[in-house]
Amino acid sequence: MLRPVIFDLFHTLLHGVDDERDRVVGEMALLVGADPAELVAAYHASWRERLVRWDVEETVEVLARRLGVTPTAEQLAQAGALRRAFAAGLLATVSAGTLEVLDSVRASGHPMALISNATAEAAAAWSQCNLASRFDVAVFSCEVGLAKPDPKIYRVAAERLGADPAECVFVGDGADDELAGAAAVGMTVVRTTEYQDTDPSWDGPAISSLGALPALLRNP
Ligand SMILES: [Mg+2]
Repeated sequence: MLRPVIFDLFHTLLHGVDDERDRVVGEMALLVGADPAELVAAYHASWRERLVRWDVEETVEVLARRLGVTPTAEQLAQAGALRRAFAAGLLATVSAGTLEVLDSVRASGHPMALISNATAEAAAAWSQCNLASRFDVAVFSCEVGLAKPDPKIYRVAAERLGADPAECVFVGDGADDELAGAAAVGMTVVRTTEYQDTDPSWDGPAISSLGALPALLRNP
């Protein structure tokens, strides 16, 4: 068996559009009667919580209540719909070039997995996006209640692939200390800077485009 390859999602397979996320949260705030800047700040402050708990409506309700606002069920449904549509649209932005690389790596015989620190709406959109069929395994933090760089989430992915972590190659931009987390469980790490130079102090192989990955896997 060729070595399994495990990918991060945002800023690895597609642009993470962090500014767009804030804009959408601002629109959600207006739908539920909260102050946009305050809800955006509450979203940022609750990032680690949102990775491992709550669906979209629960998130808006909890955060709005922290701001002293009590949305109606209808307002929550509208805000949730906006965020879900954004997540689906974001996953649809994956480039044809990236899909070609994934198809090439997969066709070579590498088992493929995803580990994403992601909130519920991204995980929900995954099965409908054209990335999903390229992967044998997808592990989302919100679904397993674990987030990178917790060693357990890398082990979950390896176990679902039927592989030892030390056999796996992890490819990511480096957010949330994910590269150190992967290395800590014995994975070979490849940093990508295609969308964002997230972890410039990482001392190891790096690629500036996912297109460089197939050659790196052939000649490590
Ligand atoms: Mg990332």
